[in-house]
Amino acid sequence: MNFQGDFHVHTNFCPHGSSDRMETYVKTAIEKNLNHLTFTEHAPLPKTFIDPAPEKDSCMKWHDLSDYCSEVNRLQQKYKDKIAIKLGFEVDYLIGREQDTKETLDQIGPLCEDAILSVHMLKAPNGEYVCVDYSDEEFSRIVQLFGSLEAVYKAYYDTVKQSICSDLGQYKPNRIGHITLIQKFSKKFPLQNNEKQKNDISEILALIKEQGYELDVNTAGFFKPYCGESYPPLPIIQQAYSNGIPLVLGSDSHRSNTIAKGFIRLPQELNFSLPQSR
Ligand code: ZN
Ligand code: FE
Repeated sequence: MNFQGDFHVHTNFCPHGSSDRMETYVKTAIEKNLNHLTFTEHAPLPKTFIDPAPEKDSCMKWHDLSDYCSEVNRLQQKYKDKIAIKLGFEVDYLIGREQDTKETLDQIGPLCEDAILSVHMLKAPNGEYVCVDYSDEEFSRIVQLFGSLEAVYKAYYDTVKQSICSDLGQYKPNRIGHITLIQKFSKKFPLQNNEKQKNDISEILALIKEQGYELDVNTAGFFKPYCGESYPPLPIIQQAYSNGIPLVLGSDSHRSNTIAKGFIRLPQELNFSLPQSR
């Protein structure tokens, strides 16, 4: 299997991450013989949007943006003979806030060489935004808000579908992040019936294919105590691969020692792609 790089990596600019220096991530990637690395810090949320996470720690701060970019640029230069580093972002798709997100993308897009569009936040029936991957306790509250576990899953997959189809302007990312993140606590909150979920995921893959996007193959889920599977799970990765969707690997590291973690658990026969250059 060829894993040439890790294309989903967070940094010390993430308020819910570790304080590991970005340079340590780069050194670890080089030690693990990677040729490529994309830093994809959570892009700042639109200024008019209140972070729904209980600790309000979902994303980097606007005032850190220039320090983040200069540190990536410094490392790009310093290590250019050893590893190709890209400046990227993981951008939140916020349903109903597409115009604000487009404005954010218009600001950060010109700086950006690679990016992921992810759903972490849903809009509950009472109009409140919620963050689905924050904690199992918060997830349990979210199930109450939506009325059932099935309703939360439906909202998640519907939101992912809308993220793929939404018009976010010329800087819209072309990689769709962890499409099954909603399974993060699935061992604690198991679905009774998986059929609906299977259909939703197939529809999501069809939309990704139709729009010419890449799939984030994200190994972080393997190590979540209530998940134990990649995002998406292996059979879905196989399905995407046979549909001809480019698979782009990411560890979703929030600390430096998890670079490329879990890549070895993916099937040997898969070919992973480099992100399309933008
Ligand atoms: Zn994160
Ligand atoms: Fe994410």
